[in-house]
Amino acid sequence: MSYDQIEVPEDGEKITVDEETGALSVPENPIIPIIHGDGIGTDVGPAAQKVLDAAAEATGRSVSWMRVYAGSSARDKYDENLPADTVNAIRDHRVAIKGPLTTPVGAGFRSLNVALRKKLDLYANVRPTYHLDGVPSPVKNPAAMDMVTFRENTEDVYAGIEWEAGTDEVQKVKEFVEEEMGHDDVIHDGPVGIGIKPITEFGTKRLVREAIEYAIENDRDSVTLVHKGNIMKFTEGAFRDWGYELAAEEFGDVTITEDELWEEYDGEKPEDKIVVKDRIADNMLQQLLTRTADYDVIATMNLNGDYMSDAAGAQIGGLGIAPGANFGEGLCLAEPVHGSAPKYAGEDKVNPTAMILSGRLMFEYMGWKDAGKLIRDAVEKTISEGDVTYDLERQIEGGNKLATSEYADKVVENIHELA
Ligand code: NAP
Repeated sequence: MSYDQIEVPEDGEKITVDEETGALSVPENPIIPIIHGDGIGTDVGPAAQKVLDAAAEATGRSVSWMRVYAGSSARDKYDENLPADTVNAIRDHRVAIKGPLTTPVGAGFRSLNVALRKKLDLYANVRPTYHLDGVPSPVKNPAAMDMVTFRENTEDVYAGIEWEAGTDEVQKVKEFVEEEMGHDDVIHDGPVGIGIKPITEFGTKRLVREAIEYAIENDRDSVTLVHKGNIMKFTEGAFRDWGYELAAEEFGDVTITEDELWEEYDGEKPEDKIVVKDRIADNMLQQLLTRTADYDVIATMNLNGDYMSDAAGAQIGGLGIAPGANFGEGLCLAEPVHGSAPKYAGEDKVNPTAMILSGRLMFEYMGWKDAGKLIRDAVEKTISEGDVTYDLERQIEGGNKLATSEYADKVVENIHELA
């Protein structure tokens, strides 16, 4: 495939997928598209690249980076926010990494992150939250958290079905809701914006399937379905019901419900079973703090997943270190949880760990588990020795405050030492 304005590196090879088995075939020198992103993306992108290069080289491989563009960099080059070149390059190369992209609030263009996830059908946004030694935390026992959130990425609020106050469209929807559907006493008079959200059996089941498969492959104890089904019975409640249905239909031999755990096993989980349970979202947010160790793999819809993973991220040290990745069929687009923090853009100040650890997730997806472990160990060593960026330094006594680029250099040094 050729691209209008992207330079394809000459020295790398493409990652491919076996269409029948879905297995990835990863060369030792893959071409990996990278979007640095807006705001602090220009700081954390190059810093992460340096660290990922070092980890690849230390394990006998190399990465041929292919710069692709979205957001402000794409506006400069293509005069549009999300060029087809970028979407095609990621689809074609199977595995990619991106920094944050700015979304204007209220007016302006819709989220490019959402558009990318939708165009590539990256239906599972996976956000691991685990504690790294030495990272300061607002809670007493941050190490109790070792959780992976599977957040649905194509439905719920991400479906983006909304109508603006004052438009003909919103008036039509209001009339339909009031006159045809009989809900004539719920919408106050005056200007109104209306949004609806779809939750489908298809979207729910493919997400929950990913979460249970991950739990099986990684020897996890439980999968918790998080929903607000007590209020939104036919959307969030249906997510819960379809989740349980999928677990029973496809994983009946390895999963048990919480009721079965108590009724048949007296609360003692058999080693070869995964407990599938559910929690209402508001309760779940307090359980994260009060009974942290009870939660393992989480499967939830888009909005709940966003709130929960930011809150969980805060418990293990904040957004500066919280990684993520989006997965579709034979596709991975890694990206940190945090946004573009425009006030720090270009200051060489923020923490690149979230982007670095997102790269670790990407390497693991590629089967480069040794490189992934090296990255985690080197980051942990760097932070434990007190070498940190501003966000952690303000919470550690006697920490050594480093710039983004200096911190990345330290992690690289530690990769060389540990390799
Ligand atoms: P944000 O960019 O994540 O920043 C919020 C705060 O989190 C920052 O002020 C900073 O806190 C801390 N933070 C974030 N990244 C950090 C890092 N790497 N190192 C250290 N601290 C970090 O959230 P926002 O201000 O709500 O959003 C800004 C823009 O990003 C918006 O346009 C939003 O739509 C977009 N966004 C994009 C993505 C994405 O691309 N996937 C995700 C979320 C938001 P302190 O100032 O307290 O130190």
